Amino acid sequence: MRSLPFTKDMLESIVAKYPTPFHIYDEAGIRANVKRLQESFSWNEGFREYFAVKALPSPVILRLLFETGCGMDCSSLTELMLARAVGVTGHDVMFSSNDTPANEFQLASEMGVLINLDDITHIDFLAANGGIPKTVCLRFNPGGEFLLGNTIMGNPGEAKYGMTREQLSEGVKKLMALGAEEFGLHAFLVSNTTDDDYYPALARKLFKTAVELHEETGARFTFVNLSGGIGIPYRPYEKETDIRYIGNEVKREYERIVTPSGLNLRIFTELGRYITGPFGYLVTRVIHKKETHKKYIGVDACACNLMRPAMYGAYHHITVMGKEQDPLTNVYDVVGSLCENNDKFAVDRPLPRTEPGDLLVIHDTGAHGFSMGYNYNGKLRSAELLLKPDGTAQMIRRAETPQDYFATLDFLNLPL
Ligand SMILES: *Cc1c(COP(=O)(O)O)cnc(C)c1O
Repeated sequence: MRSLPFTKDMLESIVAKYPTPFHIYDEAGIRANVKRLQESFSWNEGFREYFAVKALPSPVILRLLFETGCGMDCSSLTELMLARAVGVTGHDVMFSSNDTPANEFQLASEMGVLINLDDITHIDFLAANGGIPKTVCLRFNPGGEFLLGNTIMGNPGEAKYGMTREQLSEGVKKLMALGAEEFGLHAFLVSNTTDDDYYPALARKLFKTAVELHEETGARFTFVNLSGGIGIPYRPYEKETDIRYIGNEVKREYERIVTPSGLNLRIFTELGRYITGPFGYLVTRVIHKKETHKKYIGVDACACNLMRPAMYGAYHHITVMGKEQDPLTNVYDVVGSLCENNDKFAVDRPLPRTEPGDLLVIHDTGAHGFSMGYNYNGKLRSAELLLKPDGTAQMIRRAETPQDYFATLDFLNLPL
């Protein structure tokens, strides 16, 4: 398990200024991680990570990532607007959406971003809503099951995304007839996997398909987009992904398949979870302790601040600050205050003896954490902080107030 980037004393002084609950992101950790990824793929001229904005849609974070060399992967109108607001546009943005509304294609076209088409019918739809650009990417869904060795890793046949192999051929020809000149190929087949052989296997499939499509249609393929999916070890005993191994194995596939074909492909990734996931923490205070048929620790955060445990039964490690060395003598459910029995950050979790007033740190909330938040029970979204390399905290999003929650309601002109 990664060690925390703050001590209990540091955290208490941050909490004195910014009340719990909040998410805090470790800038130094994120920067070092992006560097590791870029170094692992530096053999590929033009390699680029397009950060999946939905994982952590904060202008400060996006700007920081852009400065480290990342582009932005957007999939909605507001994500495109966020990228544009921080000065990221044109081919620094990948637009990988599905079931895309017309106004999103129009904004994507206005911004001149790289558009990744999810479906063959989107060719005509895009032609009518912004026009066919010179460079375009196609999203592939090979169907069936995705196997690594004998293990079923994913089930593309049941996934709503992407085009069939036949549709790719047809789509490329149609796009060429409509004026497209450069092509990319994309697929996202397995989510949150720590199996280091996923990316190399995906790369093999995409490299082969790009070479085939080139030979079949004459289309000029210039990039392959490996998308997201690299996982992180949420549990303490899980191993970390070996990004150097992954980079090297993708290189071997490249040399075996792409080099002899004469194509020159840039490799793009659209990682979200891998980039920021391990570097975010939900900080929450224990407000109640309850003993009935089970023992409960009640905290001041709830599933509205972090939905993954309630939604997927996901494991998030929990540290009781200041009690890191204490024996795990108690088994608790750690719960929030929603009127929903799945509002539990942990079920039957061995922890040190925990009391009201203790600060809990819930790990690995840096991706798909805050951003999946919601307002059920009228709960308000928390603040987000950035832990600077000098140990100070910068607020990058204020906490919602009741006024924010009420802002869109018709109150019949009655006073609150
Ligand atoms: C969600 C998503 C990603 C990022 O996925 P991670 O699991 O966070 O790496 C990338 N591309 C697309 C199209 C996505 O939908």
